Amino acid sequence: MATREESRQKREEKLDELHEKLTGAVEQLVTGEDWADALRFSARFRSRSFNNVLLIWEQHQAAFEQGRVPEPFPTYVAGYKQWQQLGRQVEKGQPGYQILAPVTGRFASANPSDPASWYRLGRGEKPKPGEVVRPRIVGVRPAYVWDVSQTAGEPIPEPPSPTLLEGEAPNGLWDGLAQQTHAAGYELMRVPHEGMIHGANGLTDFQAKTVAVRENMDPAAQVKTLAHELAHVLMHDPDREDTRQHRGIGEVEAESVALMIGAAHGMDTTGYTIPYVAGWAANVDGKEPVEIVKATGERVRKTAAGILDQLDTAQVPDGTLPGLDRDAPRPARSKERTAATVAEPEHSRAPEPATARGL
Ligand SMILES: [Zn+2]
Repeated sequence: MATREESRQKREEKLDELHEKLTGAVEQLVTGEDWADALRFSARFRSRSFNNVLLIWEQHQAAFEQGRVPEPFPTYVAGYKQWQQLGRQVEKGQPGYQILAPVTGRFASANPSDPASWYRLGRGEKPKPGEVVRPRIVGVRPAYVWDVSQTAGEPIPEPPSPTLLEGEAPNGLWDGLAQQTHAAGYELMRVPHEGMIHGANGLTDFQAKTVAVRENMDPAAQVKTLAHELAHVLMHDPDREDTRQHRGIGEVEAESVALMIGAAHGMDTTGYTIPYVAGWAANVDGKEPVEIVKATGERVRKTAAGILDQLDTAQVPDGTLPGLDRDAPRPARSKERTAATVAEPEHSRAPEPATARGL
């Protein structure tokens, strides 16, 4: 008979193996054509100044309140001609959002390190030999931009988005996870819909010490969300120095734990987990998404093993953790944008303008 130590070791090996497969699946996704198309598309939207982001938000909110756009938050925003170049037309009756576009002038200097030596070149004027030319902002002028939802035409390339899980939850899993949430000092609430938790599936509030999960999705999706939130509770309390974590990395970790908890109970969460993890890993600056996922492996495995240890649910016997065993897991592309697209968090404390692409 296997000793306790042996079976623990075996499970850790399984969890490591599962994490390697998850990393491979993320790699496959972020190196795929859909992902590349989406990146190429979003690269055509330049970032805007903070003031213009605010201007766009304010006017988009007003348009939403008047029923002119279907979503409260702007996503891709561009000028009239830019939209035409992207194969889309601004729809009739859609007024643009006024922003302030920088006006630049050309400045020349024979001695660039001396600030007093720079002078502005006139229209068509050429610099003298040996002079350096640089553009500088000399003022602003009003310009107009439109949100993608005010345009029609060529489809928008988007990265594959997470698909909500369907069906029943494994027996006893919700209760077991709920118990651990309570044991960690958190109150667990079920809310009727995503509107109560910033459009997310679940929300962990570290200040109020509450975890909320929305009820208007299948039990499998609810229990997967609870596993995700419990991982946040155990791993990401911002008041504890050892658990504070970059937002993107935190989401990668929490969802990876959820995948492991699901897999240990025979649940295949890959259709949700892979695009979610890939999306957040791609949101961490300075590193490749796959490197981000790899680096979280040990913390994720430890947390998942800790949660599984305390569950008295029927878990899949060693060796058959499902979910990532296919060669090429390709998450289904959902046509509708659900409450949980890549750009949106499983939980969020406040809407974040920075996540709106193209602003
Ligand atoms: Zn989360």
